[in-house]
Amino acid sequence: MSQRNGTNPGINLSFCVKRWITPDRWAPVVRDQLGLDLIQFSFDLVDPMWPASVLSRHAREVRKAADDHGITIHSAFIGLAHYTFNQLLHPDEEVRRVAETWLERAYGFAAEAGIPGVGGPLGAIASRTDGKEADAIDERDYADLVERMLRLGNKAKAVGLSELYVEPTPMRREWPWTIEQARQMMTDAAGSATPWRLCVDWGHGTFQPLYGPQADTMEPWFTELHDVIGAVHIQQTDFQFDRHWDFTEKGRVDPAEARALLARTGLAQSPVFLEVFYPFERDSISLLEALKASAASLKQAFA
Ligand code: FE
Ligand code: MN
Repeated sequence: MSQRNGTNPGINLSFCVKRWITPDRWAPVVRDQLGLDLIQFSFDLVDPMWPASVLSRHAREVRKAADDHGITIHSAFIGLAHYTFNQLLHPDEEVRRVAETWLERAYGFAAEAGIPGVGGPLGAIASRTDGKEADAIDERDYADLVERMLRLGNKAKAVGLSELYVEPTPMRREWPWTIEQARQMMTDAAGSATPWRLCVDWGHGTFQPLYGPQADTMEPWFTELHDVIGAVHIQQTDFQFDRHWDFTEKGRVDPAEARALLARTGLAQSPVFLEVFYPFERDSISLLEALKASAASLKQAFA
């Protein structure tokens, strides 16, 4: 893995889901069409629960494609498919264990693919039948989660990973969703054999329906957590939902201002990944055009 100055924008392969699903497809799209050379792999393209031999072959293909195309893979992120299963905070203890195994297998894949880190949201508690949401998850659930994070730190170290990430999400049923919770979790996981860091997302910290009207900037997240932030997800959004739009859409995020904010808060060197999702029914050509324009505007802003 080559050392980078950290200022070139990267892209999460979220946009590839169901389209450019194999390295012979996504590598040329990323490198030749978007002109990017830094990515975050997505486990929406490879399921860590596939049989070991299939997983292993895909890992080798990912590693080779990245090498051949001059692409650095910063990390591999959980994606949407597995995220929907409540993961490490599922009410069923056995399912939590499966989710832990899922991550162990994800670590093994990443190691074999030459990807140094793995991350994403860690879990969601289930909703109550009356729909009411507490401001905090149960103490026992939190303790259990931290225990799993520490155990996962050992597993990640055993396969040679160098960093793990937790992505705060703007939901009371997930953890962490506030700056204070994120700081607490980083403190509680500080003893991990593999360091845990935060991956913060522009559309999460600015979700005003949860955080209030003052949450029209990522500044407090960056200012207060810059020492534990390992990566940033950028997207176009209107602060009303976690939109994951690209930059051809009208929204509240300006790439140049985003770059300036990162620099001002000590995160000029932090890897930044465009993370966008598209409706499955949208045609792939229009999507490539929108992605090219978005990559160009980010590159210009981050140049
Ligand atoms: Fe994200
Ligand atoms: Mn998101």
